[in-house]
Amino acid sequence: MFSRILVANRGEIALRIIRACREVGAETVAVYSEADRNALYHHFADESICIGPGDPSESYLSIPRIISAAEIADVDAIHPGYGFLAENSHFAEICRSCKIEFIGPNAETMKLLGDKVAARSLAKKAGVPVFPGSDGPIKSDEEAIEIAERVGYPVGIKASGGGGGRGIRVAHNKVSLVNGLTVASTEAEIAFGNSSLYIEKWIEGGARHVEVQVIADHHGHAIHLGERDCSLQRRRQKLLEESPSPSIDDGLRRRLCDAAIRIAKAANYTNAGTVEFIVDKDGNFYFIEVNCRIQVEHPVTEMVTGIDLVQQQLKVATGDKLEFSQRDIHPQGVAIECRINAEDPRNFFKPSPGRITKYCAPGGPGVRVDSHVYAGYAVPPNYDSMISKVIVHRRTRDEAINCMRRALSEYVIEGVSTTIPLFLSVFGHSAYLSGSVDTGFIEETYS
Ligand code: ADP
Ligand code: ADP
Ligand code: MG
Repeated sequence: MFSRILVANRGEIALRIIRACREVGAETVAVYSEADRNALYHHFADESICIGPGDPSESYLSIPRIISAAEIADVDAIHPGYGFLAENSHFAEICRSCKIEFIGPNAETMKLLGDKVAARSLAKKAGVPVFPGSDGPIKSDEEAIEIAERVGYPVGIKASGGGGGRGIRVAHNKVSLVNGLTVASTEAEIAFGNSSLYIEKWIEGGARHVEVQVIADHHGHAIHLGERDCSLQRRRQKLLEESPSPSIDDGLRRRLCDAAIRIAKAANYTNAGTVEFIVDKDGNFYFIEVNCRIQVEHPVTEMVTGIDLVQQQLKVATGDKLEFSQRDIHPQGVAIECRINAEDPRNFFKPSPGRITKYCAPGGPGVRVDSHVYAGYAVPPNYDSMISKVIVHRRTRDEAINCMRRALSEYVIEGVSTTIPLFLSVFGHSAYLSGSVDTGFIEETYS
């Protein structure tokens, strides 16, 4: 095991990683920005280093600052968490040249899969269905129009380097396609430093997001840990995730998991990763992307499989063999996660940063809360608005929903608005209760 690990992140995931390190006996080094001075997570680490101002480009996204902290603290590995530098292959390469282990896949695999156009071709070659669309980056408006007419409108315009639900536009006709391409390439250049775009058939109604967790070691073993259903989204960002998916049968589950493993093997994948698919209302599935990192919703898989994914990431990165084979994986029961964001669902989900005046987290049987906040903590305006994740694990889906209702109604967070009332409303909705919401449900129901 590594002796000292730097956690290149903030918030709940920084705390989650520090906890895993402590359990496997590795020392931890936390980094924080000036905007995170009041955060508690860095007090759980053995050492903590302020790496710069609140603006992410001068702290959590600054490779020189993170690497300097790692050298000063003399660590042997860096865990990037999710977001920030987690999917930056250049960062992984620099870690390698500094002889610091980057806890994730190798830089080449990250580079390949981080390019969503290249990932699409890899999936196709591995015999996994992808949406009909462009085979490479779009070179001209004429080419895009020709493809859109061939596959039929609507089409999604996506950034090759996109992520986090950003950089996607839907075009319903030629005019919106041409306009969309111009705006999207400028946006993609600014957001991802890469203006390259591709298009694919867009499913308008009945689309479900189902993804498969994989983990692979450096000894040729790649296994899956089942799927998560993340169809409850707002603006293509996940709000709630559950496992198993209530909308697929065992046959489809097997095909999705096999497809994910084929992609992981074709990409020479190591460490934890997620292969994402869209399932249509007829049960056809299409690969959309691979996320080369730990996912926000990983606890859902941890609850049903009993496997600590972050500890496994650390072990695999040190060169250990996976401790289990596919035959050992038997997911039990149902887990659901709600992302609690400091946002006002009654006011167009406007971010609601500020001081938390009163705080009391839920507990009791079946409830897990992953959060870094406390009473008196000021949620900074600089970052993602997620302040907590509530995860429940029960024998059946009905029991899990009842448990989540109970947990959310116990949860006291005062001073900032949160998405809790939205979830309580969703749990009263027959579409959610019957397991049939699609990715457009929130927009259709709450706007
Ligand atoms: P998950 O399934 O793990 O939630 P998301 O795509 O929602 O995956 O991303 C997790 C976090 O990483 C979010 O905070 C999101 O804003 C951020 N993120 C993901 N990809 C990018 C990217 N390319 N650029 C900036 N932020 C990203
Ligand atoms: P990101 O990298 O931003 O996570 P994804 O390609 O994973 O982008 O897509 C994000 C979300 O957009 C999906 O979860 C789904 O809701 C929607 N989506 C993506 N592709 C399609 C498609 N072809 N048809 C319908 N919805 C899609
Ligand atoms: Mg995605």
